Amino acid sequence: MSRATYTHKFVKAFPERLEEGILYVSVEFATAAHRCFCGCGSEVYTRLSPTDWSMKFDGQNVSINPSVGNWSFACQSHYILANGRVRWADKWSRERIDLGRAIDRERKEWQFGSVTQSPPETKEKPPGPVWFGRLVNWLSGK
Ligand SMILES: [Zn+2]
Repeated sequence: MSRATYTHKFVKAFPERLEEGILYVSVEFATAAHRCFCGCGSEVYTRLSPTDWSMKFDGQNVSINPSVGNWSFACQSHYILANGRVRWADKWSRERIDLGRAIDRERKEWQFGSVTQSPPETKEKPPGPVWFGRLVNWLSGK
């Protein structure tokens, strides 16, 4: 069942099992994580960086920008997490997704000069502990 609201939890490291309806934020790992709000059970990790997602905390609620598009999951959910509310957005067509990725790539190239290493992308990699381990490795420069 799709959710309309969520709460948040600031954590040092993510728990083994993410609870439904909670947006976990780890400043330590510069990553936010949640279980897909459509109810499909997929774990979604969103990296916080100048070219990925950003997080806003107004003292009560956490918002994530831009929208979360779970293109690699069967559900293809797309939603915006703002002020504790899940705003459901349109599903993107394959062309729109590819275009979005191309824009994203260009933005990164512009920002960093070149793309030397391809970081793990939430939308591409299977979610879960294996992928998260890779993220940790990547973040610590291994
Ligand atoms: Zn889902």
